[in-house]
Amino acid sequence: MGDLARYFSTWELICHCNDDNCPGKSTKPSAILLGGLDKLREFSGCAININSGIRCKDHNTKKGGSDNSRHLPQHADAADVVIQGKNVREMVDLALKIACFRYGGIGIYQNRIHLDTRPYLARWPKGMWRNQTEFLTYDEMENQDEK
Ligand SMILES: [Zn+2]
Repeated sequence: MGDLARYFSTWELICHCNDDNCPGKSTKPSAILLGGLDKLREFSGCAININSGIRCKDHNTKKGGSDNSRHLPQHADAADVVIQGKNVREMVDLALKIACFRYGGIGIYQNRIHLDTRPYLARWPKGMWRNQTEFLTYDEMENQDEK
């Protein structure tokens, strides 16, 4: 049980930098994000680790986030997550079942995914997606490299 959402707590989603006074520690995550994470937890039936939630400007830069990252306190609607026991393709397939992520941002990384609830579609890296909701297969990705 969390203090922010059904399954998530403040400590999991606030900025993890070393500055106790950073604005990323006093900003509340977006309610849509929290609702989406709860739905993802219930739909997947799997524990979800929050790798990174809100990030202050300094911490975001350190983590290589973009200048207008959804992790920044002014948006506060992004989380990098690991769905335990799933590979990244399975994680994305689960996330696509949750409307606020399906119609928002989804990014694929080595062993985690980025989710955000921005009010428009965003997908990356481009080379892994056939369209907004489907991946390329690994074979297709290899062929793409050869071109
Ligand atoms: Zn911070």
